[in-house]
Amino acid sequence: MTVAEPPSAGCAPAAAAELAGPPKATPPKAKDDPTRHKVVFVLGGPGSGKGTQSARLVEEFGVAHLSAGDLLRAHMKSGSPEGQMVADMIKNGQIVPSHVTISLLQRAMDESGKHKFLIDGFPRNEENRASFEKQTGISPEFVLFFDCPEEVMERRLLGRNEGRTDDNIETIRKRFHVFIDSSMPVIQYYDALGKVARINADRPAEEVYTEVRRLFMEF
Ligand code: UDP
Ligand code: MG
Repeated sequence: MTVAEPPSAGCAPAAAAELAGPPKATPPKAKDDPTRHKVVFVLGGPGSGKGTQSARLVEEFGVAHLSAGDLLRAHMKSGSPEGQMVADMIKNGQIVPSHVTISLLQRAMDESGKHKFLIDGFPRNEENRASFEKQTGISPEFVLFFDCPEEVMERRLLGRNEGRTDDNIETIRKRFHVFIDSSMPVIQYYDALGKVARINADRPAEEVYTEVRRLFMEF
């Protein structure tokens, strides 16, 4: 350091803390702190391959995979009134209130003991997105967007036979509408921040994964 440099440029941590006043409740972790939670949102229409590609990333990179839909489906089996509401909303292709999904995600993050997360199928609307960022203080490192034509997604959903209450043609059409109207704006929001990696998902899973895995080399 040269003597001419202003003191703020090389400010020692102790002095910086003094200047900052009383400490905040949870100080944000430094960008290079290995225990800082890092998140990638995995988005795309129903049947675009979010779950399939996430499973491969878990296997290769050991990241934690949190599927919002899977967490909600487990929650709906709880037998509680809230579980019944979730079941009804899923059957209709509607988006469950943010506070329900976010508390399930937060608990799963805490219980995982991991710090790198793929969050699959969330956020599904602007309110989901803003509430999550506000409540957790986390913004995603980037967003994977699986772009796939509706007719391809429709064929996959009707062919998968997972016993889901929402994989019927009537609910599938509703889910497509909700995706375009409510979820695409979330992708556009992150795109404007330069955070979206768009993947052509209308290809065999293996081929899609070759492209996806490259994005995780430095995650
Ligand atoms: N869902 C929700 N909020 C979420 C994720 C899922 O309300 O953050 C509900 C919604 O009703 C959705 C359903 O769960 O249609 C299934 O979501 P999932 O991601 O499992 O399936 P996808 O529609 O992407 O195939
Ligand atoms: Mg899924």
